[in-house]
Amino acid sequence: MASDPFSNAMAQLAQALKFLEIEPQILEILKKPQRILEAEIPVKMDNGITKNFSAYRVQYNDARGPFKGGIRFHPHTDLVEVKALAFWMAIKCAVVDIPFGGGKGGVTVDPKKLSSRELEALSRGWVRAFFEYLGPQKDVPAPDVYTNPTIMGWMTDEFSKLAGKWRPAAFTGKPEDMGGSAGRTEATGHGGYLVVDALAEKLKLEKNKTTVAVQGFGNVGYYIAKKLHDAGFCVVAVSDSQGGILDKRNHGMDPENIMHAKKAKGLIDGCYCVGTVCDCENYQKISNAELLELEVDILIPAALENVITLEVAKKIKAKAIVEMANGPTTPEADEILKARQIPVVPDVLANAGGVTVSYFEWLQNNRDEVWTAEEVLAKLKPIIENAFEKIWAMSQAKKVGLRTAAFVLALTRIIEAIKTRGF
Ligand code: GLU
Repeated sequence: MASDPFSNAMAQLAQALKFLEIEPQILEILKKPQRILEAEIPVKMDNGITKNFSAYRVQYNDARGPFKGGIRFHPHTDLVEVKALAFWMAIKCAVVDIPFGGGKGGVTVDPKKLSSRELEALSRGWVRAFFEYLGPQKDVPAPDVYTNPTIMGWMTDEFSKLAGKWRPAAFTGKPEDMGGSAGRTEATGHGGYLVVDALAEKLKLEKNKTTVAVQGFGNVGYYIAKKLHDAGFCVVAVSDSQGGILDKRNHGMDPENIMHAKKAKGLIDGCYCVGTVCDCENYQKISNAELLELEVDILIPAALENVITLEVAKKIKAKAIVEMANGPTTPEADEILKARQIPVVPDVLANAGGVTVSYFEWLQNNRDEVWTAEEVLAKLKPIIENAFEKIWAMSQAKKVGLRTAAFVLALTRIIEAIKTRGF
């Protein structure tokens, strides 16, 4: 049974609150976003006809700092999804202890069907619609599903024009020549790789014998697959929305080859040819559903929410799950996985590398500094590793799942901030 993402988020909150003392008035604050912004954005399409697109910004909680979170352009995005994603951002920023609250934005659109000019008009329209509520000290958006540095560049430019001054810290995930941080594009995948590495150590898995399946081959899925492959893990299956491939020998495939093939053919393929010279992985085609049920050590959902449902959870054969997508596991599935003793590293920790480097970008912009990719990734490492250790230790001590432990850690910090600020 599919459940809506916000109900799932609230079920996760309720689960964590069993381990916290909370005053009723604080609970009320946590159960609802502070502000919901909605707008219809008119875009003059290339055929001359003006079309309206539904757009959202949910500002969930800013007790710990400005609202922070990406903007998603997706045909299925709606307010319920954006609310859940905004809540998860508040938790995520508190998990890694960066000074931000949580927010999220979205537009109901299939960006693959827009021309570049239409996409730019939509992106600039989004900023005009919500301008007065955005800014470096108010709410700092970033990329999410189907948005990218180019879109953040247009948005920063539009924001700066409206503000009457250059304001790079208003958005993160920008192109590097506009104040974007080195290392931001790979940051989410890199953080996920650090988490898998830490988890493998806890589970006593040897890297070169550890098999991994990754669902999703966008910015997040590609980089975690590549980083794991480069570190010696065996990436035996990958997929995108069209389907995937499985390495028949279980040796591990090179994600870079697969990306070349995807760019050339438009879909995941294990064969990449230049002229008559082909670089082919030994692969077989599989569906997305099959990927989730593979007998691998680590399963990494890195696409969209609600893919691991109750039914799927019963069939999972992986030893552990690392959530790189936001909200891929339903609460019912979580229960099953817990009973089956399959650890799930939650999204709010596993994919927090992205927002952490967004924080570094915001800092660099505010201080007029430029850090190298090496510096950025070196600063990311202890943040992710410390958060992982804390959450692992709490999960062992309280005998709860890693998600509940992460929520308890984050909620303790958020509740403290709400109390300190007064309400
Ligand atoms: N969209 C990313 C996430 O879900 C990054 C958000 C950000 O950098 O603000 O964590």
